[in-house]
Amino acid sequence: MTVQLQRFKMLVGGEWKDSSNGLASSILDPSNNQVIAEVPRATKQDARAAVDAAKTAFHSPEWRDMDSAKRGRILTKLTGLVRENSDELARLETMNEGKTLRESKGDVAWAARAFEYFAGLADKIEGETIPVPPRRLNYTLKEPLGVTVHIVPWNYPIALAARSLAPALAAGNTVVMKPSEITPLTAIKLGELAAKAGTPKGVVNVVTGSGSEVGAHLVSDKDVDGIIFTGSDETGKQVMEAAARNVTHVLMELGGKNPHIVFPDADIPKAIKAVKDGIFTNAGQMCWAGSRAFIHESIYEGFVRELVDKTAAMRIGPGLEDSTEMGPVASKSRQDIVLGYVKDGTEEGAKLLHGGKKPKDPRLDKGNFVEPTIFENVTGEMKVGSDEIFGPVLSITKFKTTDEAVTMANETDYGLYGGIWTSNLKTAHDVASRLEVGGVAINEYLVTFPQTPFGGYKDSGIGHENGIRALEYYTRTKNVSVNLG
Ligand code: NDP
Repeated sequence: MTVQLQRFKMLVGGEWKDSSNGLASSILDPSNNQVIAEVPRATKQDARAAVDAAKTAFHSPEWRDMDSAKRGRILTKLTGLVRENSDELARLETMNEGKTLRESKGDVAWAARAFEYFAGLADKIEGETIPVPPRRLNYTLKEPLGVTVHIVPWNYPIALAARSLAPALAAGNTVVMKPSEITPLTAIKLGELAAKAGTPKGVVNVVTGSGSEVGAHLVSDKDVDGIIFTGSDETGKQVMEAAARNVTHVLMELGGKNPHIVFPDADIPKAIKAVKDGIFTNAGQMCWAGSRAFIHESIYEGFVRELVDKTAAMRIGPGLEDSTEMGPVASKSRQDIVLGYVKDGTEEGAKLLHGGKKPKDPRLDKGNFVEPTIFENVTGEMKVGSDEIFGPVLSITKFKTTDEAVTMANETDYGLYGGIWTSNLKTAHDVASRLEVGGVAINEYLVTFPQTPFGGYKDSGIGHENGIRALEYYTRTKNVSVNLG
């Protein structure tokens, strides 16, 4: 099928622009590696111009003095526009990232909910009055940070763009968004919708270009007041070093190697489905993928047999096809990395139970497909048991006692998320408190709402997205002391 090539521009200071050097990057459909679009390949100068535009907009009376209720109404309008355009946004997301259309529709709906949630909070960001010795008034003001830079990764382009854009705007910041160079399309569309919703010029800027050039410049720019980064630990550390040089605030959402612990008294069919979906959704490219499953020895055999059968029955294919249950990974390099991990796992002595290759179907030859893959007998010393693979690869391990399961689950530098499967309340809450992770799901998996905090312990991040307290990050506190004597 030949695809109509779409040419996009980037949004800087309210204008739709090409790159200052005229260069463009090709955007590929990961299901066949055909070029579907071209976007400007921004330069450092373009990044600087975007920060300048955001800074000017931040100080403009139009934005600075805008009634916070009006900011809320703009976000409400944006919510409606995202919903009205959800079919187009979901299609673009699937064509660009590869996930199934059903998943993309879910992501777009999630993005709309994030705007809706923070729309309602825009005029509820309150300071406090503080009792001090007599004849004084002492109070705090919650003020926006200023210019915030949002480094958005390629695995959830629209949902993660919305997750930080919504609170940033609700709190009165101005934004420079840098989507991943491989998946910029829905972020550009979001910029267009934000402008339509009434954000003044320069309040939302979207710069397309590489992380190593444009991203690195943005996070080192001294006029940037806050950085929201989602991605790998390695790049996250580089971003923190750059931010430290300018004492810039950072919010870091990094990786995970997230455990499920399945006890014998769990609803087993439900747990099997959730363990499968928890790793093969978005072809495993999720910071909160349930990539390790610890299964109690008394149910192990039946559980694993059923899980492998269900995995073998999954339909792999292009995300746009209705029957597809798992799409490709987002890039050719990701496909190579994931297959490299499979090789490592086999060499390290883990037992491959299913998958581990490119699918045989010749129809899928040109795409970045990897079979859904399951290993057993995995230990924490193996790469497959410790590294964030970011692909459809599950490691299964048998456990005897709760203590053993908790120890193995915590045996990782990451601490993002965990799943517990049991019908015993005491076990559920006891294990939830002992897991060294920022989020736990009991008897379900992959649940996040714009109103519930999401963030990592240990090397999985710093700070929280989502929820009312996310606004703490997007604001700074000024104390005012008035002498009334
Ligand atoms: P990176 O951490 O390199 O990329 C994440 C984001 O950071 C992208 O938008 C990227 O832009 C940008 N970026 C890259 N370099 C810089 C820089 N020097 N300064 C500022 N921004 C930068 O991840 P990769 O894409 O290389 O993926 C590697 C691994 O990262 C994955 O295997 C996975 O483990 C993890 N990851 C985790 C995510 C999460 O949700 N926590 C999301 C994505 C990846 P660009 O893509 O344009 O280079």
